[in-house]
Amino acid sequence: MKGPTIRFLGGVREIGGNKILIEDGPDRVLFDFGPSFSPRVEEFYVDYLQPRSTCRAKDLLEFDLVPRISGLYSRESLGDGDLAYAPPEVHGIFVSHAHADHAGYLDLIDPTIPVHVGEGTRTLMSAIETSTRMKYGEHPWEVFSDRAPVRVGGIEVVPYPVDHSIPFAYGFLVRTSEATLAYTGDFRHHGPRADDTHAFFAAVAAEKVDALLIEGTRAGPDPRRNLSEAGVRSAVDRVLHASPELAMACTYPRDIDRLRTLYAAAREADRELVVSTRTAHLLSQVAPRFPSGEIPVPGQAPGLRVHVRKKRVSYLWERPFLDEALASEEVRRQGRKYLLALDLAHFPELIDLRPPKGSPFIHSMSEPFSEDDVDDKVMHNWLDHFGLQFHQMHASGHASASELLDLVHLTGARTVYPIHTEHPEAFEKAGPSVRLPELGVPYPLSG
Ligand SMILES: [Zn+2]
Ligand SMILES: [Zn+2]
Repeated sequence: MKGPTIRFLGGVREIGGNKILIEDGPDRVLFDFGPSFSPRVEEFYVDYLQPRSTCRAKDLLEFDLVPRISGLYSRESLGDGDLAYAPPEVHGIFVSHAHADHAGYLDLIDPTIPVHVGEGTRTLMSAIETSTRMKYGEHPWEVFSDRAPVRVGGIEVVPYPVDHSIPFAYGFLVRTSEATLAYTGDFRHHGPRADDTHAFFAAVAAEKVDALLIEGTRAGPDPRRNLSEAGVRSAVDRVLHASPELAMACTYPRDIDRLRTLYAAAREADRELVVSTRTAHLLSQVAPRFPSGEIPVPGQAPGLRVHVRKKRVSYLWERPFLDEALASEEVRRQGRKYLLALDLAHFPELIDLRPPKGSPFIHSMSEPFSEDDVDDKVMHNWLDHFGLQFHQMHASGHASASELLDLVHLTGARTVYPIHTEHPEAFEKAGPSVRLPELGVPYPLSG
């Protein structure tokens, strides 16, 4: 009988798309299951051209955009494709956090396979499903608690909370019959939950793991500027201190830490933070998962307002916010009172907002990876057209290159597999324990 093995079915030489299969005798457990960001999926499917909702797995398998694994996909999503349906051969899926590159393909999975998520992640996913087109499918949802071991057959999984740019992110310690490993998920330690990340890596070091699966988003050359969350706060303070008329900012929609930072900065500057209905919905849904009063909730927190855009229909989930919401015309009349969080997708509202020339636009997201990023060009065309002042201010969701190497040393793992990175070779500086994984190859965990 062969010992436990690990296979990387995604997240190899790419940022995102983690799909990690651990096999131990009869037991098979998968960690994360999301689409690759780029370039693979986008070579065939783009905004206007998507897999058919009736047979998504079939349409993705056509181009090998998802792994060809038997006993994983639902009968419906396989349709009459060449990978035939088989009853489940994977016994559980653990989701590290609710970012799309880790959870975005759960809807392809056989609906009888249990999906293990943190309690907060389940709440986030429900809020995302309600207010966007993202669908995770029907599953037996198994909700785990911080540091409480979960058993799937003979495999034991211990979820540890870590700091990341979405709340309720986890790393995992995994104990198999003959070996232990740690999978970091995505993490940083310059955000508000840095202590969680430290505690996770302390546990990994104490366990003397055989294998460390570590994300390396920022490994290798990374010219992009990075601040801590506190650094973002003081940078935003400086912009607001100059008392502009309307101030605007854009962030990732699920970066609750950033929304709290913007809210605190706005309050300090005697402004109201104005958010989209989607953000309002998310904040009100996740607030009960946090200590009371930690998350500002529209309708309850002073100085938090909701922006209503010009559109024909409103959804049921938007309705609780609409009575008190501000239209662009009102924001325009009293610009000095507001910090408006404006998604790039909602830029046509600028035509009604007409901010005075030189008004600040705070880009609180990561800088583009490439010079010829189309979205970035479009954003700057709009900002130039309206004469807005661009400010880049972001705290990454990921640890820096030097922090990653320090952690590899700290854990003393026997074998280190860098994943979720375009530069796995940057880890080789950490010594001979580093092994660059290849897609689909089974690696023995013990011996
Ligand atoms: Zn990721
Ligand atoms: Zn992430």
